[in-house]
Amino acid sequence: MNDSDAHPLKLFNSLTRELQIFDSVHDGEARVYTCGPTVYNYQHIGNMRAYIFADLLGRTLSWQGYKLTHVINITDVGHLTSDADVGDDKMEKAAEKSGKSAWDIAKYYTNAYWKDIDRLNIRQPAKWSIATDHVEEMIDFAKSIADKHCYECDTGLYFDTTTVPNYGALARASTEEGEGRIDTVEGKRNQNDFAIWRKTPPDETRQMEWDSPWGKGAPGWHLECSQMSMKYLGDRFDIHTGGIDHREIHHPNEIAQNQAYNSCDHSGANIWMHNNFLIDRAGKMSKSSGDFLRLQVLIDKGIHPLAYRLMCLQAHYRSELEFTWENLVAALTRLKRIVMGVERLKQRIADRHPELLSGSPEILTKVQDDKERAHPKLIEIREQLQSAMTDDLNSPKAIPLLEELLTLKKVDARQRWNLLSEMEQIFGLELTNITRSDLRVRPAEHSIAETDIEAKLDERQKAKAEKDFETADAIRDELTAQGVDLMDGDPLRWEWRIEI
Ligand code: AMP
Ligand code: ZN
Repeated sequence: MNDSDAHPLKLFNSLTRELQIFDSVHDGEARVYTCGPTVYNYQHIGNMRAYIFADLLGRTLSWQGYKLTHVINITDVGHLTSDADVGDDKMEKAAEKSGKSAWDIAKYYTNAYWKDIDRLNIRQPAKWSIATDHVEEMIDFAKSIADKHCYECDTGLYFDTTTVPNYGALARASTEEGEGRIDTVEGKRNQNDFAIWRKTPPDETRQMEWDSPWGKGAPGWHLECSQMSMKYLGDRFDIHTGGIDHREIHHPNEIAQNQAYNSCDHSGANIWMHNNFLIDRAGKMSKSSGDFLRLQVLIDKGIHPLAYRLMCLQAHYRSELEFTWENLVAALTRLKRIVMGVERLKQRIADRHPELLSGSPEILTKVQDDKERAHPKLIEIREQLQSAMTDDLNSPKAIPLLEELLTLKKVDARQRWNLLSEMEQIFGLELTNITRSDLRVRPAEHSIAETDIEAKLDERQKAKAEKDFETADAIRDELTAQGVDLMDGDPLRWEWRIEI
């Protein structure tokens, strides 16, 4: 019996609100679609939680041996200021406000988003699908379902949600909070009906508009994801992800379109997964509120972005996570301790098995393939890792295993390094690359250079060695006045940090 028999991968399916054993549509493959950002502004760190979650899912699937095809879209047209059919297009509104073109805005914020993806060590998907590159195909999609499932109003082509079975099952619309959620639009037959094509009003010109059988206009946001997901992953694919807000409107509407397009009850994806929100004390973090935290703000305060990744992994993706600076700094400290453990292990490897540090995966004999020789404690940790991660991606339970692994100083370093490398594949914390010094708190604005701090610390060290405590204290006071916090007796030997 191998590990995957003992611990099959179980994922929480929002459709059934139950755990489900992952059974891939195509043998040995995993095809995943993630709703991407609307690029009218920067992404806030809450948005980035959604991609850290999707990345953890993708990494776990790869680790479990599936050939992963991951698609993330970029919504550069079509998302209105309300998730339903009222309000303005977010892109057009941002263009109007800034005086820039909607196309330039999309390009700028897409690049900013990709930069954050990189900084958080989120793996590149197989495809970034850009909505505006697919509008002709979206029109074809809409044409193919228009006769049976849609009707035209003054404002656009609408999807009649009574033409598909169980509309809103994902949101539990008729029983839960979903009820009464959509504002009324003139001419709509049913409250839940939604626009799949929005006509440009006669008295307006839009920067982003296309000709269609229903007049000049733009695709509805939900149409984009239905068309792009099925184009790249097939009419029936494995997993669709997004933030929990998408469970209420966006994904039920995608499902309705998928059912119509495929002329069957199937929702397109077998499993729909949703990450819960990052919240702050004021409530859900949102871009529309204007004032929001983005990754760059954390970096400017001197916090390494991977501390935020760890902060997310410390919570289960289905739990709300509260952002506080204290939580973030605690995650940074935890990451530093882990990295120190890795550095010690790395030193032993460098002394005894330098070939392993070349990173060539062929020479990494995995613990589970080498049970005869593997240390029993490592076999146990590997087993617990498998059990935690296959239990709906229980990363908060898995991270302590990494810490436990690093404490096993008597166990063969090579075997530990192999298991660490395997864990690294899942967590994506760059543990085998980053150093303690990379994690030092480095605010963008500080009045003193790091080399000067180090020089002062050397001086102070010398003074202390000579029992000249007066000088040592004076140096300390001088540094404190410049915002440098010294940590004498710091068990991490982290010596100093610049106050944030
Ligand atoms: P948007 O750019 O608004 O389309 O959102 C991008 C992704 O972030 C979507 O999957 C949202 O569901 C998700 N999201 C939005 N706000 C939060 C939040 N506070 N915490 C976690 N995910 C969020
Ligand atoms: Zn989407």
